[in-house]
Order: sequence, then structure tokens, then C-alpha cells
Amino acid sequence: MRYLYTVLFVFISTTILAQNTYLQCGKLTDTKTGKILTEKTIVVSGNKIIKIENGFVVGKKDDIIIDLKNKTVMPGLIDMHVHLEGETNPKAYLQKYTDSEADVAFNSVQFAKTTLMAGFTTVRDLGGSGVNISLKKAIKSGRIKGPRVFTAGKSLATTGGHADPTNGSKRSLIGDPGPKEGVVNSIEDAKKAVRQRYKNGADLIKITATGGVLSVAKSSSNPQFTVEEIKAICETAKDYGFHVAAHAHGDEGMQRAILGGVKTIEHGTLMSEKTMDLMKQHNAYLVPTITAGKEVTEKAAIDGYYPAIIVPKALEIGPKIQNTFKKAYDRGVGIAFGTDAGVFKHGQNGKEFGFMVEAGMPAMATIQSATTINAKILNMQDQIGQITPGFLADIVAVNDDPTQKINTMENVVFVMKEGKIYKK
Ligand SMILES: [Zn+2]
Repeated sequence: MRYLYTVLFVFISTTILAQNTYLQCGKLTDTKTGKILTEKTIVVSGNKIIKIENGFVVGKKDDIIIDLKNKTVMPGLIDMHVHLEGETNPKAYLQKYTDSEADVAFNSVQFAKTTLMAGFTTVRDLGGSGVNISLKKAIKSGRIKGPRVFTAGKSLATTGGHADPTNGSKRSLIGDPGPKEGVVNSIEDAKKAVRQRYKNGADLIKITATGGVLSVAKSSSNPQFTVEEIKAICETAKDYGFHVAAHAHGDEGMQRAILGGVKTIEHGTLMSEKTMDLMKQHNAYLVPTITAGKEVTEKAAIDGYYPAIIVPKALEIGPKIQNTFKKAYDRGVGIAFGTDAGVFKHGQNGKEFGFMVEAGMPAMATIQSATTINAKILNMQDQIGQITPGFLADIVAVNDDPTQKINTMENVVFVMKEGKIYKK
């Protein structure tokens, strides 16, 4: 009998009586309905949200109370396009030859922390050397601070394409990278490259469907895969539960990517109306990256910041991105919030909200794009993107109501990820 009481006591004290956190929220963003609620208390136990109560509620003596009475609280933000391995700087092109993997890894630890502190509790890392896979594991195990990472590992390109790792090297260093290194030139290569990413520990696939701005190559926008190659990538990816993201500036490459089965189009700069309709038909989302467009336009004006071959591409593509986003949004294309952080300084991801609003998207819709919509694309719609009982306790707060003042999103003042407070 006494044993039974002891068991019962241990059970009660570890579950029912466990220390909970009460977040008293002046304003609470309901991303499901698109409404701002007032005077609510979120109850967090362990890594989950267990209750939302009306008014400002206090728990038991040992519970923790967080006063967010004059803040606007919302779910942790999700950025669908970051590169945690690097960050723009005038030496970036030289560092490819001077920095070892360990240097990249130490830098990425800092970038991951900065991203989390900016309120982004989940990100999709769309391409690096593969250090991004180790980074994801280190964050997941709690060894370092950072957002929850879904990573593509190394992006896939065709020979000389945007993500060919030896672009711009002298001939003796070029070699002949293949599927293992992320370069494919046939259907067989395509399948092998996807399987290799699975083996390496990636969570999704990124392809560079057209030329790009920052690669040392001539065209910003030529198509670089055949539809058949993209189909082979997307179909193989499905076997592993991966979705496929496609970098694309040019219209032809974008159309091939959508027909091939990709889920998201990154940048989408020269997208025609026909392609916008194709995206709607195929349920594909545009990831705008307006902040990156603004950044490359600005940096291209600084003499010597980028190699000479990049400057005209940056000036051609950069200024067009925001306007294409506006047209696509107005036409009803699904928008998945994403910034391309790394092309600009990590931690400034929140600037994208202001640029989206400036182009005509309502503030609440931009926040839903960065929460519920992105959660759905990541197949995490039952765990993140909403402040709802049963969901993971990813919760952030800003000083002002973003529907009144969108720039408040650049200054996240409270960050909780899976019930643990990182910024207060
Ligand atoms: Zn990118």
C-alpha cells in the first residue's frame, strides 16, 4: 500500500505538479484565424503549450510567470530560405579557398544563434557544403543554440550551373564533380544525387533550376536542367519523404521546375503571368527573398565588393524581385516567407515583413506566411506555426502590434523554443 502511495506521489509531482510557465500576453496573434486577441495567458509545460486561458492567470507557487502584458505575442517564425554556413562579406569568394570546414562550422554556430535570437525558431537551410547537416544535429541535441533546421545539405546543379562547387576556379582545380558533390547531368545522376543527400542526412532537396546572381558564371537566369532531370529528382525525393525547392530567376527554368514537381520556387524574379498560373495549378509556393534582392543591388554599387562578372547580374535581378512578388501575390500565388539570409547579415530576416507589406500584402498575411503556411510546407502543421494546446512551445514577442507597425518584426524581444527561454 505504501509503495502504491509513493508511486502515486511521484506520478502526481512529475506530471500534474510539474513546474509550468505562464506567459501573460497583452496581445496574442492567432495565426489560424488571422486575429489579434487580447489579454490571454499561454500555459507551457515541458516543451509544449498545454492551455490558453482568458485574462492574466497565475499558476501555483512554483510556476514561472512571464510578463508580456505590453507585447504582441506570436508563434516562433519560420524562414524558408537561409544559408547558415556563410554571410556576405567582400572576402567571401576568397574564403572558399582559405577556410576549412572547421572555420565554416565555427561561423555557422554564431549565425544560427543570431537567427534564433531574431525570433526565427525554424529555418530551411537551402544549401551549403554539408556542414549545415552537422549544424542541424548539434542544435537538435542541445549542444548549441539555434533554430530547428531543415536542411538541403549541398544543393544540386548541372555542370557550370549556379551551385556547381567549382565555378570560377582555375582549370587545375575544377576537376569533374558528379552526383556525390551535387552535380548532375542525366536522369541516373539525378537519382543518385538525391539518394546521396539522404545518406548524408539532408531533409529536403534544393536544385538550382536557372543561373543565379552570386555564382561566378555569366547568366543570371538561363535554364539549367531538363524537365526529365527535374522529374527524376522530385520522384526520387518522394521516396525519402523529401520535398524539392528550386532556385530560379528565369521564366523557362521556373516552368520546367514546376512541371517537374518542385514545391517552392525561390526568388522567381522573371516570372511571367503564365508561370504564376502554373504555380497555382500545381500548388507551388513562391519564396520571395526581397531582402536579398535589395542587398545585392546595394552591394553591387560598392566597387570590388563582388567579382566583376556578378555586378551586372546583381543590378539586373536585384531591383526586380519585390515587384515580381507583388504581381504574384496579387495573382493569387501562394507565398512562403523566406529571405535568403546569408546573402545579407543573419538576424535581419525580419526586414522581409516590411518589404512584403510595402508591396501590398497585409501584415497579418505576412505573419501567416511565416508561420502556418511554412509549417504546412515542412509537414509540421500539427506542431509549429500556431499557439495552440498540443503544439510545441515556440513563442516569440515584439514590442508593438505588427498590424499597426510592421517594422516591429525586426526587433523580437522574447524568444522561447520548445519551452526553453532564449531571450527575455
Ligand atoms: Zn539562397
